[in-house]
Amino acid sequence: MAFWEEKTLEQMSKAEWEALCDGCGRCCLIKLEDEDTGTLITSDVRCKLLDGNTCRCTDYPNRQKIVPDCIKLTPEKVREIPWIPVTCAYRRLAEGKGLAWWHPLVSGDPQTVIDAGVSASGRTFLETEVDPGRWEEHAVDWPEWEPPEHL
Ligand code: SF4
Ligand code: SF4
Repeated sequence: MAFWEEKTLEQMSKAEWEALCDGCGRCCLIKLEDEDTGTLITSDVRCKLLDGNTCRCTDYPNRQKIVPDCIKLTPEKVREIPWIPVTCAYRRLAEGKGLAWWHPLVSGDPQTVIDAGVSASGRTFLETEVDPGRWEEHAVDWPEWEPPEHL
């Protein structure tokens, strides 16, 4: 059995934990808060450290010093934070869904994250290049989108 099938999130080694990230970049999109309702809306504006094509953090070791809002995911946080994307591998495992077919650990190919429409690659705008007054125009629903469980 693969490690993600036989271990709980708490039992995973650091290397196993890191390997679970599918590199979609969805959790690094800026959330907008509706002032009236407090509802969080995801935008297509990406964190200033996120590479828009590879969807990798460009300074992962120092990310929390540079971006204080950046969340270091833990098993507890994965279960508590409502905005963790539904496709996120950590959330899926926490919910007992297993890894999806597009996950690179399952498919053997990082490209399947893009092919499935899960990745933020090539469809975001850099935080520092968007006028804060226009962020509302960047509210999008695709980060909530979930591909079918089977091809
Ligand atoms: S949403 Fe989950 S799987 Fe996607 S980049 Fe973030 S931590 Fe990784
Ligand atoms: S600092 Fe890095 S990991 Fe954190 S939100 Fe930004 S790009 Fe993502």
